[in-house]
Amino acid sequence: MFILVVNAGSSSLKYQLFDMDTREVVAKGLCERIGIDGKLTHNTVGKEKVQKDIPMPTHAQAVSALVESLTDKEIGCIEDMSAISAVGHRIVHGGPWLIKSVLVDDKVLADLEKCRDLAPLHTGPHLLGIRGCMEVMPSTPQVLVIDTAFHQTMPPEAYTYAIPYELAQKYAIRRYGAHGTSHRYVSGKAIEYLGDPNAKIVTCHLGNGSSISAVNAGKCVDTSMGLTPLEGVIMGSRCGSIDPAIVPLLMLREGIPADKMGAWLNKQCGFLGLSGVSSDLRDVRAAAAQGNGRAKLAIDLLAYQIKKYVGAYAAAMNGLDCVVFTAGIGENDSEMRALALKDMEYFGIKLDEEKNRVRGCFEIHADDSKVKILVIPTNEELVIASDTMDIVSGKEI
Ligand code: ADP
Repeated sequence: MFILVVNAGSSSLKYQLFDMDTREVVAKGLCERIGIDGKLTHNTVGKEKVQKDIPMPTHAQAVSALVESLTDKEIGCIEDMSAISAVGHRIVHGGPWLIKSVLVDDKVLADLEKCRDLAPLHTGPHLLGIRGCMEVMPSTPQVLVIDTAFHQTMPPEAYTYAIPYELAQKYAIRRYGAHGTSHRYVSGKAIEYLGDPNAKIVTCHLGNGSSISAVNAGKCVDTSMGLTPLEGVIMGSRCGSIDPAIVPLLMLREGIPADKMGAWLNKQCGFLGLSGVSSDLRDVRAAAAQGNGRAKLAIDLLAYQIKKYVGAYAAAMNGLDCVVFTAGIGENDSEMRALALKDMEYFGIKLDEEKNRVRGCFEIHADDSKVKILVIPTNEELVIASDTMDIVSGKEI
């Protein structure tokens, strides 16, 4: 069975085709500059990677272009479109309406429409991607796999904000979290490794956007991102958690209007704003190595915040069996892992410095560490493909 996984953005659409018999990717690619001119990069495994300029005025045309590449005799890997059993769409925010992976119908699309305000940058493009696929592949089932779904098991004390209750209800304001598909994948892998379905795990997804989750017996019980992906630890260009009073103060003093403030908090803060160097941790590290104090402070800040979340979530779960690192920083930056988990013997956390430095090493805890420490490359697309297959096969999710 072939499942196509689609991640639609405003002017781009990433795709991967999975052969679910082997659970391997057989082809992947990227449609870029949708609505501008159009460029397609396609790579069938074992064949040469191709790049083509193809007009893509709409997302539907981008979908047509990718289907043509997948079915092309020379660069493709399937005979025709009917070989694709279903399409799985990555959805960033499902609000309180879409709380698990689901087959698309009119009601589901109407529910997704309601999420526009909660994730304005993502929901519109997702809808364009879904409708584009429905237009090009009208008889192929479409499934939504939703990033906020994994966090729906949080208890009220973890997801509630102390604002007037009626307003929170009226505007569906609560903690939803993000990166749920990644937290679900890596915590599932950790449970497999530990052989304990009741394990207490902290998963650290540290990338351009970063979030940390507490997973108890396979269920998310807390997470650092909030109503939107702004909350939590310092990120590439997002501020993470700050005193909310800073927002009106800066709006007044700097004359920043409300509609610009959100973009400012998302794009001008974090590593970029604090270091003044870049939103990319590699650049920040290079600057710190040359003596840039603000760059070093940005690095120290992230490590300190990770440490605090690990401690807080160990308290929330009344124990800790495992800490998992994933995504760009989590998988690659051994110094960040070491700094974040330094001086945590009290919690039974002891890193093996040497193993930690070996790229690709899975277990990085010391032999006598009570808490296991794992580096697990995330694979959100595989989760999307698996859920999509399960749904079209009639399995309960
Ligand atoms: P996104 O959230 O956009 O998917 P990624 O998960 O790719 O982002 O993570 C991007 C971050 O990972 C950047 O800050 C980048 O500097 C960092 N990163 C990637 N590779 C390395 C590396 N080898 N060493 C340190 N940081 C890295």
